Amino acid sequence: MPLPPDFHFSQGSLQDFVDCQRRFQLRYLDRIAWPAVQAEPILENERHMQQGELFHLLVQQQLVGVPAARLTAMAQGDPDLAAWWQAYLATAPADLPGQRFPEVTLSAPLGASGQRRLVAKFDLVALPTEGRTVIFDWKTSRRRPPRHWLAGRLQTRVYPWLLLHAGHDLNAGQPLTADGIEMIYWFPGFPDRPERFGYSASQAAEDGGLLNGLVEQIALLAEGEGIWPLTPDEEQCRFCVYRSLCERGTAAGSLDQQDYSDFEPEVEIDLDFEQVAEVEY
Ligand code: SF4
Repeated sequence: MPLPPDFHFSQGSLQDFVDCQRRFQLRYLDRIAWPAVQAEPILENERHMQQGELFHLLVQQQLVGVPAARLTAMAQGDPDLAAWWQAYLATAPADLPGQRFPEVTLSAPLGASGQRRLVAKFDLVALPTEGRTVIFDWKTSRRRPPRHWLAGRLQTRVYPWLLLHAGHDLNAGQPLTADGIEMIYWFPGFPDRPERFGYSASQAAEDGGLLNGLVEQIALLAEGEGIWPLTPDEEQCRFCVYRSLCERGTAAGSLDQQDYSDFEPEVEIDLDFEQVAEVEY
């Protein structure tokens, strides 16, 4: 089944492809919603995901001007969420001068023909001083991932690259420079230990090659028939909803054994391309 003309790639879908090509096929092409739990205990997992969503909402509301006191009252009913929120207020990671763009969606063409699209929704983009652009991503994972794990995630490649290529609208139409871009992962559970990644023109060139290569590989696979390769890393299957469909077991993995992922479901970015900043080649 060829890729639909309006198909858009995201860091989540590309990460799925890298983790398991079959998962990409099932989730994004066949669009199979398989009725299985991702991790046990179910309620704890769902509660944690919900807390993460609420934390993102609180920060977004604060950044658009809702008084912190009102938001604090909203967080009070949940001790974990209240602790994250207090850590955020005390640390004020987003309290930078200059323009700030919470929950902004950017898009850029991708692939050899430029007909594919890469899309991402950023938690926050800040332009504190001339020539400097900071991407913030709030990470509500239970455990604080090490730097090497974050460095290996596609998000760390996709976000700076996409901002570099499509972020000029946020900068009064002026192009951004790779050297001025920084990506900061900030963890409400570990507020004193953010992880920062700088950027450069050479890294951007490398990332562009990687992303374009992945998209071309996916488009080529989609031209063919049949089942895409299942990952040889069966650890991936323990936390994958398709494990019974793939005959890779029936029991969900335990939260205690999960990696550093938030288990955030891939956000269906509702695209109105009239409203999405992008660049045309
Ligand atoms: S169960 Fe394993 S092989 Fe099947 S889609 Fe999930 S990760 Fe891939």
